[in-house]
Amino acid sequence: MSSNVDPMEIAKFDGMAARWWDPAGDFRPLHEINPLRLDYIRQRVDLRQRKVVDVGCGGGILTEALASQGAIVTGIDMAEGPLSVARLHQAESGTSVDYRHATAEMLADEHAAEFDVVTCLEMLEHVPSPPDVITACAALVRPGGDVFFSTINRNPKAFMLAIVGAEYLLRLLPAGTHEYQKFIKPSELEEWSRDAGLELRSSTGMHYNPLTREYSLGPGLDVNYLMHFQRPGDR
Ligand code: SAH
Repeated sequence: MSSNVDPMEIAKFDGMAARWWDPAGDFRPLHEINPLRLDYIRQRVDLRQRKVVDVGCGGGILTEALASQGAIVTGIDMAEGPLSVARLHQAESGTSVDYRHATAEMLADEHAAEFDVVTCLEMLEHVPSPPDVITACAALVRPGGDVFFSTINRNPKAFMLAIVGAEYLLRLLPAGTHEYQKFIKPSELEEWSRDAGLELRSSTGMHYNPLTREYSLGPGLDVNYLMHFQRPGDR
Protein backbone atom coordinates (compact mmCIF):
# COMPACT_ATOMS: atom_id res chain seq x y z
CA MET A 1 0.00 0.00 0.00
CA SER A 2 1.38 3.36 -0.95
CA SER A 3 1.62 5.88 1.85
CA ASN A 4 2.31 8.87 -0.36
CA VAL A 5 -0.99 10.44 0.63
CA ASP A 6 -1.54 13.28 3.10
CA PRO A 7 -4.79 12.55 5.00
CA MET A 8 -5.23 16.24 5.85
CA GLU A 9 -5.15 17.14 2.18
CA ILE A 10 -7.65 14.43 1.31
CA ALA A 11 -9.98 15.60 4.11
CA LYS A 12 -9.71 19.17 2.83
CA PHE A 13 -10.75 18.22 -0.70
CA ASP A 14 -13.49 15.90 0.61
CA GLY A 15 -14.90 18.83 2.56
CA MET A 16 -14.99 21.03 -0.54
CA ALA A 17 -16.36 18.38 -2.91
CA ALA A 18 -19.96 19.61 -3.08
CA ARG A 19 -18.80 22.97 -4.42
CA TRP A 20 -16.53 21.54 -7.11
CA TRP A 21 -18.64 22.49 -10.10
CA ASP A 22 -19.83 25.88 -8.84
CA PRO A 23 -18.20 28.19 -11.39
CA ALA A 24 -18.28 31.05 -8.87
CA GLY A 25 -17.26 28.93 -5.85
CA ASP A 26 -14.10 27.61 -4.21
CA PHE A 27 -12.84 26.08 -7.43
CA ARG A 28 -13.51 29.07 -9.63
CA PRO A 29 -9.80 29.42 -10.51
CA LEU A 30 -9.73 25.81 -11.78
CA HIS A 31 -12.78 26.51 -13.96
CA GLU A 32 -11.19 29.65 -15.33
CA ILE A 33 -7.79 28.15 -16.12
CA ASN A 34 -9.26 24.97 -17.58
CA PRO A 35 -9.64 26.15 -21.21
CA LEU A 36 -6.04 27.38 -21.11
CA ARG A 37 -4.73 24.10 -19.73
CA LEU A 38 -6.74 22.12 -22.26
CA ASP A 39 -5.44 24.27 -25.14
CA TYR A 40 -1.86 23.78 -23.98
CA ILE A 41 -2.36 19.99 -23.97
CA ARG A 42 -4.30 19.90 -27.26
CA GLN A 43 -1.61 21.88 -29.04
CA ARG A 44 0.91 19.23 -28.08
CA VAL A 45 -0.95 15.94 -28.38
CA ASP A 46 -3.78 14.54 -30.47
CA LEU A 47 -6.32 13.40 -27.89
CA ARG A 48 -8.71 11.54 -30.18
CA GLN A 49 -8.99 7.89 -29.21
CA ARG A 50 -5.92 8.22 -26.99
CA LYS A 51 -5.78 6.58 -23.57
CA VAL A 52 -5.35 9.27 -20.98
CA VAL A 53 -5.06 9.09 -17.20
CA ASP A 54 -5.75 12.22 -15.14
CA VAL A 55 -3.93 11.85 -11.81
CA GLY A 56 -5.52 13.70 -8.87
CA CYS A 57 -8.57 14.43 -11.02
CA GLY A 58 -10.74 15.81 -8.19
CA GLY A 59 -14.29 16.57 -9.35
CA GLY A 60 -13.27 16.10 -12.98
CA ILE A 61 -12.95 19.60 -14.45
CA LEU A 62 -9.97 18.73 -16.66
CA THR A 63 -10.92 15.04 -16.87
CA GLU A 64 -14.27 15.72 -18.57
CA ALA A 65 -12.70 18.26 -20.91
CA LEU A 66 -10.17 15.64 -22.02
CA ALA A 67 -12.96 13.13 -22.62
CA SER A 68 -14.94 15.68 -24.62
CA GLN A 69 -11.95 15.88 -26.98
CA GLY A 70 -12.42 12.22 -27.82
CA ALA A 71 -9.87 10.74 -25.42
CA ILE A 72 -10.52 7.51 -23.52
CA VAL A 73 -10.03 8.80 -20.01
CA THR A 74 -9.37 7.30 -16.59
CA GLY A 75 -9.54 9.69 -13.63
CA ILE A 76 -7.91 8.77 -10.32
CA ASP A 77 -8.04 10.51 -6.97
CA MET A 78 -7.68 9.54 -3.31
CA ALA A 79 -10.62 11.64 -2.08
CA GLU A 80 -13.97 9.85 -2.31
CA GLY A 81 -16.06 13.04 -2.14
CA PRO A 82 -14.72 14.63 -5.30
CA LEU A 83 -14.85 11.25 -7.08
CA SER A 84 -18.58 10.89 -6.30
CA VAL A 85 -19.17 14.42 -7.55
CA ALA A 86 -17.22 13.61 -10.71
CA ARG A 87 -19.28 10.46 -11.33
CA LEU A 88 -22.55 12.34 -10.84
CA HIS A 89 -21.47 15.26 -12.96
CA GLN A 90 -20.53 13.15 -15.94
CA ALA A 91 -23.99 11.64 -15.96
CA GLU A 92 -25.23 15.17 -16.56
CA SER A 93 -22.60 16.14 -19.07
CA GLY A 94 -22.73 12.89 -21.03
CA THR A 95 -19.02 12.07 -20.87
CA SER A 96 -17.80 8.64 -19.84
CA VAL A 97 -14.70 8.75 -17.72
CA ASP A 98 -13.59 5.71 -15.73
CA TYR A 99 -13.20 7.20 -12.23
CA ARG A 100 -11.17 5.20 -9.71
CA HIS A 101 -10.06 5.58 -6.12
CA ALA A 102 -6.30 5.15 -6.50
CA THR A 103 -2.92 6.82 -6.37
CA ALA A 104 -0.67 7.03 -9.40
CA GLU A 105 1.65 4.57 -7.64
CA MET A 106 -1.19 2.04 -7.21
CA LEU A 107 -2.34 2.34 -10.84
CA ALA A 108 1.25 2.03 -12.12
CA ASP A 109 1.59 -1.35 -10.36
CA GLU A 110 -1.07 -2.83 -12.63
CA HIS A 111 -1.15 -0.61 -15.71
CA ALA A 112 2.44 0.29 -16.49
CA ALA A 113 3.04 1.84 -19.94
CA GLU A 114 -0.67 1.59 -20.82
CA PHE A 115 -1.40 5.28 -21.35
CA ASP A 116 -0.63 7.56 -24.28
CA VAL A 117 -0.97 10.67 -22.12
CA VAL A 118 -0.72 11.33 -18.38
CA THR A 119 -1.97 14.60 -16.89
CA CYS A 120 -1.26 15.57 -13.29
CA LEU A 121 -2.30 19.19 -12.78
CA GLU A 122 -2.41 21.24 -9.58
CA MET A 123 -1.80 18.07 -7.58
CA LEU A 124 1.93 17.63 -6.87
CA GLU A 125 1.90 20.44 -4.29
CA HIS A 126 -0.57 18.40 -2.21
CA VAL A 127 1.43 15.16 -1.76
CA PRO A 128 4.18 14.22 0.75
CA SER A 129 6.57 13.03 -1.97
CA PRO A 130 6.14 14.61 -5.42
CA PRO A 131 9.10 12.66 -6.91
CA ASP A 132 7.27 9.38 -6.22
CA VAL A 133 4.16 10.61 -8.05
CA ILE A 134 6.33 11.75 -10.95
CA THR A 135 8.04 8.34 -11.10
CA ALA A 136 4.62 6.65 -11.14
CA CYS A 137 3.40 8.98 -13.92
CA ALA A 138 6.51 8.11 -15.95
CA ALA A 139 5.73 4.42 -15.41
CA LEU A 140 2.09 4.85 -16.51
CA VAL A 141 2.93 6.45 -19.86
CA ARG A 142 4.02 4.37 -22.83
CA PRO A 143 7.37 4.99 -24.52
CA GLY A 144 6.84 7.98 -26.81
CA GLY A 145 3.88 9.16 -24.73
CA ASP A 146 3.33 12.55 -23.12
CA VAL A 147 3.16 13.71 -19.50
CA PHE A 148 1.84 17.09 -18.32
CA PHE A 149 2.47 18.53 -14.86
CA SER A 150 1.44 21.84 -13.39
CA THR A 151 2.16 23.30 -9.98
CA ILE A 152 3.30 26.49 -8.22
CA ASN A 153 6.87 27.78 -7.95
CA ARG A 154 8.52 28.38 -4.56
CA ASN A 155 9.94 31.91 -4.16
CA PRO A 156 8.88 35.15 -2.45
CA LYS A 157 6.83 36.33 -5.44
CA ALA A 158 4.90 33.04 -5.55
CA PHE A 159 4.27 33.35 -1.81
CA MET A 160 2.94 36.89 -2.28
CA LEU A 161 0.74 36.11 -5.29
CA ALA A 162 -0.37 32.50 -4.77
CA ILE A 163 -0.94 32.65 -1.00
CA VAL A 164 -1.19 36.24 0.28
CA GLY A 165 -2.83 37.55 -2.89
CA ALA A 166 -5.00 34.64 -4.01
CA GLU A 167 -6.10 33.34 -0.60
CA TYR A 168 -6.19 36.46 1.61
CA LEU A 169 -6.45 39.63 -0.45
CA LEU A 170 -8.42 38.61 -3.55
CA ARG A 171 -9.96 35.52 -1.92
CA LEU A 172 -9.82 33.57 -5.16
CA LEU A 173 -9.19 30.40 -3.13
CA PRO A 174 -10.11 29.42 0.45
CA ALA A 175 -7.42 30.30 3.01
CA GLY A 176 -5.25 27.26 3.65
CA THR A 177 -5.57 25.81 0.14
CA HIS A 178 -1.83 25.91 -0.37
CA GLU A 179 1.25 25.54 1.83
CA TYR A 180 4.33 27.47 0.78
CA GLN A 181 6.83 24.72 1.69
CA LYS A 182 5.10 22.32 -0.70
CA PHE A 183 5.55 24.55 -3.71
CA ILE A 184 7.95 23.20 -6.33
CA LYS A 185 10.65 25.00 -8.28
CA PRO A 186 10.70 24.31 -12.02
CA SER A 187 14.30 23.08 -11.63
CA GLU A 188 13.10 20.52 -9.08
CA LEU A 189 10.19 19.37 -11.23
CA GLU A 190 12.52 19.01 -14.18
CA GLU A 191 15.18 17.14 -12.19
CA TRP A 192 12.68 14.71 -10.66
CA SER A 193 11.16 14.11 -14.08
CA ARG A 194 14.57 13.57 -15.67
CA ASP A 195 15.40 11.09 -12.90
CA ALA A 196 12.15 9.29 -13.78
CA GLY A 197 13.27 9.03 -17.43
CA LEU A 198 11.18 11.89 -18.85
CA GLU A 199 12.44 14.60 -21.20
CA LEU A 200 11.24 18.20 -21.01
CA ARG A 201 9.56 19.37 -24.22
CA SER A 202 8.11 22.74 -23.26
CA SER A 203 6.94 24.86 -20.38
CA THR A 204 4.78 27.93 -19.86
CA GLY A 205 3.72 30.21 -17.07
CA MET A 206 0.07 30.71 -16.10
CA HIS A 207 -0.63 34.28 -15.04
CA TYR A 208 -3.50 36.06 -13.33
CA ASN A 209 -4.20 39.71 -14.04
CA PRO A 210 -6.10 41.10 -11.02
CA LEU A 211 -7.24 44.16 -12.98
CA THR A 212 -8.91 42.31 -15.85
CA ARG A 213 -9.48 39.22 -13.65
CA GLU A 214 -8.26 37.06 -16.47
CA TYR A 215 -5.77 34.25 -16.70
CA SER A 216 -3.34 33.77 -19.56
CA LEU A 217 -0.45 31.51 -20.58
CA GLY A 218 2.90 33.10 -21.32
CA PRO A 219 6.58 33.23 -20.50
CA GLY A 220 7.71 33.38 -16.87
CA LEU A 221 7.55 30.36 -14.57
CA ASP A 222 7.81 32.38 -11.38
CA VAL A 223 4.34 31.56 -9.98
CA ASN A 224 1.97 29.04 -11.63
CA TYR A 225 3.42 26.97 -14.44
CA LEU A 226 2.84 23.97 -16.71
CA MET A 227 5.43 21.56 -18.11
CA HIS A 228 5.21 19.06 -20.95
CA PHE A 229 7.45 15.97 -20.85
CA GLN A 230 7.85 12.96 -23.09
CA ARG A 231 8.95 9.45 -22.36
CA PRO A 232 11.60 8.66 -24.99
CA GLY A 233 11.06 5.82 -27.45
CA ASP A 234 8.28 4.89 -29.84
CA ARG A 235 5.63 2.58 -28.51
N1 SAH B 1 -6.29 17.97 -11.03
C1 SAH B 1 -7.56 18.59 -10.72
C2 SAH B 1 -7.79 18.78 -9.21
C3 SAH B 1 -6.70 19.50 -8.45
S1 SAH B 1 -7.00 19.57 -6.69
C4 SAH B 1 -7.65 19.90 -11.46
O1 SAH B 1 -6.61 20.54 -11.65
O2 SAH B 1 -8.74 20.31 -11.87
C5 SAH B 1 -5.88 18.30 -6.12
C6 SAH B 1 -6.50 16.92 -6.13
O3 SAH B 1 -5.48 15.97 -5.83
C7 SAH B 1 -7.58 16.72 -5.08
O4 SAH B 1 -8.75 16.20 -5.68
C8 SAH B 1 -6.98 15.70 -4.10
O5 SAH B 1 -7.94 14.84 -3.52
C9 SAH B 1 -6.04 14.95 -5.01
N2 SAH B 1 -4.96 14.24 -4.30
C10 SAH B 1 -4.19 14.68 -3.28
N3 SAH B 1 -3.27 13.75 -2.96
C11 SAH B 1 -3.46 12.70 -3.79
C12 SAH B 1 -2.80 11.44 -3.96
N4 SAH B 1 -1.75 11.10 -3.22
N5 SAH B 1 -3.25 10.61 -4.94
C13 SAH B 1 -4.31 10.98 -5.73
N6 SAH B 1 -4.96 12.15 -5.61
C14 SAH B 1 -4.54 13.01 -4.66
